[in-house]
Amino acid sequence: MIRLTHVTKEYPRTGRALDDVSLHVAKGEFVFLTGPSGSGKSTMLKLIFMEERPTAGEVRVSGINSATLHRGDIARLRRKLGVVFQDFRLLDDRTAHANVAFALEVTGAAEPTVPAKVSRLLTHVGLASKGLAFPKELSGGEQQRVAIARALVNDPFVLLADEPTGNLDDRATRGVFQLLREINAAGTAVVMATHNLELLRRSDFRTIDMLHGRIVSDTGDSGAAERAAARLAEDDAAAREIADAREGERTTAARPWTPA
Ligand code: ADP
Repeated sequence: MIRLTHVTKEYPRTGRALDDVSLHVAKGEFVFLTGPSGSGKSTMLKLIFMEERPTAGEVRVSGINSATLHRGDIARLRRKLGVVFQDFRLLDDRTAHANVAFALEVTGAAEPTVPAKVSRLLTHVGLASKGLAFPKELSGGEQQRVAIARALVNDPFVLLADEPTGNLDDRATRGVFQLLREINAAGTAVVMATHNLELLRRSDFRTIDMLHGRIVSDTGDSGAAERAAARLAEDDAAAREIADAREGERTTAARPWTPA
């Protein structure tokens, strides 16, 4: 579903933000991206969202390949992905309802269906009664819930969340995280960059730890076990080949020479 293959990303002035990263995220997975500030988490999300293109390697998301982008691919991809950010990025001059409706309208939803769908989404994120409030009239946790409702307008197959609880207190953090878990339980994959060790500790989701643009550990790398087994099998085969060759040498040496 999401596959990064030997991806390197270099920015013009700051240099290498990702360094030969390979990664697969399966349908419906919940993945934490963690690591210190500057380790490459946001860059990884931007590459998945195709806001940035890799300098080397390939990013594939739902059949769309960064190396062979066709006209309209990015727009198609964005309709299947939801994104939320630490700073919510709501339109301040529109109500919660209008923020979500706007996202629906730009994707060409039939106008008569919009209000009911927006109400359903706001109810889903626990804000049924706050639709007419403007962002500044909502708490941080509520604003993030509106942003999540907006990210869900197209029933995305994955929700990318860049430090979504970074500006929230503990209580709001727990609420937003619980909502993300529910969204995931209903089938949407979630890739969430976070510094919040408490969240990491309290759940056993796959955790990818980054440092200096590299993945330093990945608790859910099921491929790692397969690769290790393949390596062992290769080592075994090589050892057998060497043993056979030695055996061959011994029998040849032992055999008396006979003219052809
Ligand atoms: P994190 O999300 O883990 O804090 P980032 O992906 O934001 O890490 O940053 C990784 C590195 O890439 C940093 O050294 C940062 O300065 C650099 N970087 C990120 N975005 C840009 C950009 N738009 N232009 C130039 N350099 C960038």
